[in-house]
Amino acid sequence: MADLLPEHPDFLWHNPDPKPSYDAVIVGGGGHGLATAYYLAKNHGMTNIAVLERGWLAGGNMARNTTIIRSNYLWDESAAIYEHSLKLWEQLPEELEYDFLFSQRGVMNLAHTLQDVRESVRRVGANKLNGVDAEWLDADQVKELCPIINVSEDIRYPVLGATYQPRAGIAKHDHVAWAFARKADELGVDIIQNCEVTGFVKDGNRVVGVQTNRGTIATGKVALCAAGHSSVLAKLAGFDLPIQSHPLQALVSELHHKVHPTVVMSNHVHVYVSQAHKGELVMGAGIDSYNGYGQRGAFHVIEEQMAAAVELFPIFARAHLLRTWGGIVDVTLDASPIVGKAPVEGMYVNCGWGTGGFKGTPGAGWSMAHTIATDEAHALNAPFALERFETGALIDEHGAAAVAH
Ligand SMILES: Cc1cc2nc3c(=O)[nH]c(=O)nc-3n(C[C@H](O)[C@H](O)[C@H](O)COP(=O)(O)OP(=O)(O)OC[C@H]3O[C@@H](n4cnc5c(N)ncnc54)[C@H](O)[C@@H]3O)c2cc1C
Repeated sequence: MADLLPEHPDFLWHNPDPKPSYDAVIVGGGGHGLATAYYLAKNHGMTNIAVLERGWLAGGNMARNTTIIRSNYLWDESAAIYEHSLKLWEQLPEELEYDFLFSQRGVMNLAHTLQDVRESVRRVGANKLNGVDAEWLDADQVKELCPIINVSEDIRYPVLGATYQPRAGIAKHDHVAWAFARKADELGVDIIQNCEVTGFVKDGNRVVGVQTNRGTIATGKVALCAAGHSSVLAKLAGFDLPIQSHPLQALVSELHHKVHPTVVMSNHVHVYVSQAHKGELVMGAGIDSYNGYGQRGAFHVIEEQMAAAVELFPIFARAHLLRTWGGIVDVTLDASPIVGKAPVEGMYVNCGWGTGGFKGTPGAGWSMAHTIATDEAHALNAPFALERFETGALIDEHGAAAVAH
């Protein structure tokens, strides 16, 4: 166990006071804000920049998620950005010189109905055409890979098979944030905690600064990476985002011996399960259906999620729930993110990742940094521009997003 303990985060970056001005300000010190800062400094040489976080670093969704990383999305545009992200994940532990326990243990997405089967087989085909490793497994192959799963035919939603991505997996999320923060700090980025953005200073339709609880900061470029609070910040800047914020909750059991060798997700019964390195069973569900900004969820969601989990994994019936928590996720109409320029000049948005943005952290940061530095879309984020909600060029990933939202 001792070798799993990280360096203490307080010592991984400085805690500077805000300077009066920066070349760019990133709002939100979650994974996306930190990755954007890192790639801005590393790929584009922009180091006079700050990440402003209203709470503590990675206190939002970054360290509240269930850590699943995969790239088996349906459409070409999604496969491109998520697969780029997965390739970055594969090189990041070495590049950031930080072992954040990236574990490519594979992810299965279960199919429980004939419609699920058709959709899944189609997605496997699409993935293969896009160079994403994907396989279709029948129920026996599912059982072989995850022996504790119940594949009997007489349960409410029998397992008919699964898509499987062997290169997919999990990583220790808070360590990922610390790894990005440390490297960004080394490259000269100011990471400022307890600094809430409360408004924007504009000259006509151009942003020229941000107002914070620690004073006004002048800047010509502002990137919103605020996940669940994206629409609140956009409103402060004078534009609307087609986004709704919902609570999404997760839970862990007490520690167990290794019983769960891979990651299993079920869109249909709304549960996804992996086993953390230490041994907790980590489980998530669909979003709570109401809008809200409370970092907690409703009990009935936990009850439904546990019922689904116990049916799929009968041995969980004896596991004890240890703790639950919630995050606030920003959900779009097509279950795809918005990454690109905002309607205010000098402003950029990276939001709408909903329940699935952890896996996208490096890819989002990479393409977002390009857009901020060059003021142009990157090939990876061009399809995810805000304009698609006017043009109708939506990227409907409700099936591949894999939980109810
Ligand atoms: C329970 C749960 C399970 C999930 N499971 C997965 C999963 O398995 N796989 C996956 O890919 N994704 C998952 N997600 C989604 C994923 O966590 C998010 O999509 C992703 O973390 C969003 O990007 P971020 O890391 O920058 O967000 P965050 O970490 O939320 O960062 C946004 C930051 O902005 C800050 N902020 C907000 N307003 C202001 C302001 N006014 N001024 C300054 N700072 C501000 C917040 O405090 C926060 O720290 C899950 C989410 C939750 C809640």
